[in-house]
Amino acid sequence: MRNYWVRVALDIPLETFFDYHVPTTLSPQRGQRVIVPFGHQKQIIGVVTAILDKTDIPLDKQKDIIQVLDDLPPFSDTWIDLCEFAAKYYLRPIGEVILPVLPPPLRKITAYTGKTTSSPVERLDKKIRNQQKKAQQKKQSSTHQATTPSAHSTSLTLNTEQRIAVEVISQTQHFKTFLLHGITGSGKTEVYLQALAQKLAEGKSVIFLVPEINLTPQFEQILKDRFCPLYGENTVVTMHSGLSDGDRLLAWLRMQRQEAKIVLGTRMSIFAPLENIGLIIVDEEHDASYKQQDGLRYSARDLAIWRAKQLTIPVVLGSATPSLESWQHTLTGKYEKLCLTQRAKVTHLPHIKLINTKKIPLNQGLSPDLISAIDERLQRGEQSMIYLNRRGFSPVLRCSSCSWTSECIRCSVHTVLHQSAGKPATLQCHHCGYTTRVPYKCPECGNQDISGLGYGTQRIEEVLGHLFPHAKIQRIDADSTRLKGSAEKLFTEAHSGDVDIIVGTQMIAKGHDFKRLSLVGILNADMMLFSGDFRAPERLFAQLIQVSGRAGRHLPDAEVLLQTEFPDHNLYQSLLKHDYAEFASTTLEERKIAKLPPFSYQVLISAQAKKVEDAIDFLKTIIRMAKEDMPDYLEGIQLYDPIPLKIIRVANIERAQLLIESESRTRLHHFMQIWLQRVYQFFRTPKVKYFVEVDPLDI
Ligand code: ADP
Ligand code: ZN
Ligand code: ZN
Repeated sequence: MRNYWVRVALDIPLETFFDYHVPTTLSPQRGQRVIVPFGHQKQIIGVVTAILDKTDIPLDKQKDIIQVLDDLPPFSDTWIDLCEFAAKYYLRPIGEVILPVLPPPLRKITAYTGKTTSSPVERLDKKIRNQQKKAQQKKQSSTHQATTPSAHSTSLTLNTEQRIAVEVISQTQHFKTFLLHGITGSGKTEVYLQALAQKLAEGKSVIFLVPEINLTPQFEQILKDRFCPLYGENTVVTMHSGLSDGDRLLAWLRMQRQEAKIVLGTRMSIFAPLENIGLIIVDEEHDASYKQQDGLRYSARDLAIWRAKQLTIPVVLGSATPSLESWQHTLTGKYEKLCLTQRAKVTHLPHIKLINTKKIPLNQGLSPDLISAIDERLQRGEQSMIYLNRRGFSPVLRCSSCSWTSECIRCSVHTVLHQSAGKPATLQCHHCGYTTRVPYKCPECGNQDISGLGYGTQRIEEVLGHLFPHAKIQRIDADSTRLKGSAEKLFTEAHSGDVDIIVGTQMIAKGHDFKRLSLVGILNADMMLFSGDFRAPERLFAQLIQVSGRAGRHLPDAEVLLQTEFPDHNLYQSLLKHDYAEFASTTLEERKIAKLPPFSYQVLISAQAKKVEDAIDFLKTIIRMAKEDMPDYLEGIQLYDPIPLKIIRVANIERAQLLIESESRTRLHHFMQIWLQRVYQFFRTPKVKYFVEVDPLDI
């Protein structure tokens, strides 16, 4: 009788392997889920990542696996390999990669134990069969209906640049990273769709990543209209954090059973268990939301490239404002650039104008030029958009007499004044959610003349309401879209043109197609110009191009008015010309001199404690460990001094960080792996919580 073990990925935050003995009654395979004992009489679900002939676990400590779950086919080797790579690259235990990406019913032990006799998969299958039966009966009993072809059902005639892009991508049958650099409105979507169509025609499947959950309905409709008539109604599945557990499980089943051919979704979709993939598309590849900010801090864009390489297929990264990392790769020839330089429809890019607010007095935050431009649009029956990346009424409440300002009791930040029609005014902390009533007098000096300082979206909405009492104004930000389904509703109204003026935060900037929009007003962009983060200008430029690009997609003579105190700044000067390449070249030059990414690689260790001194002490200790115990590994590695974060305290926890940098990624990874093992061994139960982020975006 063969004696053997399996290595099981468990969602347990321990930097160690979990090996289990296989009893003679069971025969688990790699990629199968199993139930194993853990701790005191506890059972949990894990995934088998390897079959082992031997184990380091002493005989008296060995435990048997309890059950093999075979309600799903095993995950494929390539899928497990992807998860293993992600774990290794992002320096996390494998279980923290695999388990969180599974739909909750597949990893919840209670779904498989206790009273239930059927598994969640079986229950879902039964539900699907019932629904199908009902649909069939309904179909047989109804009067025959003629279906009208939908807006996106036929492909468009491509222009030359689009055609070349589609041809190049479709003809590529090996690994290659394409950067589709297309100005806003240049028809990148149609390129994706036609390249995708080619791959489906070859019998392949496709992963299509979008940065934002709010963009999925728009793309889902387009994909369904175009591909469901050809490949059946289960061809397109969506994956994002807004799905119910049941819907996530359903999407998963359709992928694993190879009914789904297209997976559309946010960053988590890069872990889709789709087989036979022929192409991966990453739309708006520069977008920061591809980076997960907790748990496994991965970049879905970077994993997309790895997965394409693993599967020897092409991957297309699309953007009007590529990340400087990707742009630099096109300059060195690592990526192939495909360009769309014209708008696809007979419209032009909007005319951008800078309004110098040092010279022109503002009327409640708005310049006279902007007010009259909005007025003009209202007369013409066109839509305007005011973009301001700050929600709430005013960023802070202030006393005019003693200069007291409203602060969060748990964080080192101001509380934001919230005040909108029909709701009592409150002060809210945007970091920890702390909410309190607005005092009627200054808590310091008793003065009653306290008021909001500065402008947020709610205040601009109110100002516009006074200026244009007959206009239909809609605010779209995290506050107005809190209820489930409300964002979709607001966007549908705004897209169709039912709204005269849209006021919103970055939620309105990305990817949306507003039919009647011909004016964009931008307030407060300067705030990000000097924020200290070396990526701030890159992010600002992308945001400004994105939001400007919403204007005039269907209408001529569109305009963008940007209010700024620094009209001569070279970022704004490049923006005026819609010149991404100029902006990129200036910024890359600065990065090169400062040896910042993409000319170096970074890892960030963040530490959290009750007192920031403890966090700093911890980081200093581990630096000392590196310097004293492993000097050989430190060659070519730069360890910076630990520093407190800009916002030191959030929810009563204080934070500090340590940046590690190198010009060699291999060296950096090698050092990190060994170092973190030591840190882990040394601090088995650290007082300080710490986490590690590879390729951090915010430093
Ligand atoms: P973006 O590059 O910003 O993603 P879109 O893909 O949204 O641009 O395209 C902008 C508009 O141009 C859409 O309304 C799209 O239907 C239209 N469009 C794209 N390609 C063509 C084409 N070849 N002919 C006509 N219209 C096109
Ligand atoms: Zn006061
Ligand atoms: Zn707070």
